[in-house]
Amino acid sequence: MHRRCGIAILIAVVAALIAQVCAAQQPQAPAQPPFTGTARAPLSPPTVENVLLIGWDGVQRHHLLELLMAGRLPNLRALIDEGSFETIGISGHATDTKSGWTQILTGYDPDVTGVYSNREYQPIPVGLSIFERAQQAFGRENVFTMMVTGKAAHVGSIGKGEPVAAPQGQPQVEQFGQPFNNTRKALDIWTGDKGREATEVGPNALSALEQAGGKRFLAFVHFSDPDHKGHAKGENSPEYEQAIVTCDEWLGKIAQWLKDKGLYEKTRIYVVTDHGFDEGLLSHRYAPRSWLATNDNGITMGGHMHDIAATLLVRMGVDITNVAPAYPGQALVSAEPYVRQPGAAAARRAQRQRRAQ
Ligand SMILES: [Zn+2]
Repeated sequence: MHRRCGIAILIAVVAALIAQVCAAQQPQAPAQPPFTGTARAPLSPPTVENVLLIGWDGVQRHHLLELLMAGRLPNLRALIDEGSFETIGISGHATDTKSGWTQILTGYDPDVTGVYSNREYQPIPVGLSIFERAQQAFGRENVFTMMVTGKAAHVGSIGKGEPVAAPQGQPQVEQFGQPFNNTRKALDIWTGDKGREATEVGPNALSALEQAGGKRFLAFVHFSDPDHKGHAKGENSPEYEQAIVTCDEWLGKIAQWLKDKGLYEKTRIYVVTDHGFDEGLLSHRYAPRSWLATNDNGITMGGHMHDIAATLLVRMGVDITNVAPAYPGQALVSAEPYVRQPGAAAARRAQRQRRAQ
């Protein structure tokens, strides 16, 4: 190595060391906030006028997808063709009916609602249901709210100390107050507190919707048949499958009713379940794989069960940013610009038909 070169390296090293020491002694410049802006403002999809939430109680996601792929749920398929199918996870409470529907219809975890399971529960506190949130946002007179259900106690409204029908016919008293005891008082229509099959729930739903009389509505219709057949005959029984197919038939009838009334274009339908089912068993002790099927193409992602309420309210145009208590979840909509593609569903159908040939 040349001597001059060696000296140059030595000087460079010393200069670097001095620069480092100086930098360490200089006061730190304030950290710049991370860049969070976007080049374009996110566009929201146009809000939805009417929301129809349909519950299929206890439908295992995998079994549903099997039936869907086999072409046995044509009405759910038609819905998904217009919107999407999303996976929904459950955590933080039992995979059962009371805690499931309570979370779906409030958006809150059990620490807020007090509904942890079928056995540990209380009435949902006043004001927390999606129906009351919509009324708070639009005014009670301006939104028609209804619940039509197919189960007694677990989606029930019996108050603490009030008589309940016991299985053996012995008069009994409700111990804690059922989840929808307060919610019921806020609704325009409540048809619940009784076990009903789809053949009864379906017509009840249509007559309740009729009473909306053209007013903007937020409706919940609950079919209990799959859960009951699953408990009686098992998750892999033909009866369980038939119950899901029956739910699909009623979905078709309700969608057709909306079309006949000229309401379908103004209504987004969301079909959800409260819990899955243990594979091949009579139970749903650990069945956290839920799902959401909708004709709303503003829904762009799956999420947690506590996201569903926020999603429905945001799609109706409710500002949930200042809701108290704050929602643990988020709306399952993307902030990306929204482009509706006319004819996309028809194109997908045509493509499937070509493939099938
Ligand atoms: Zn059940």
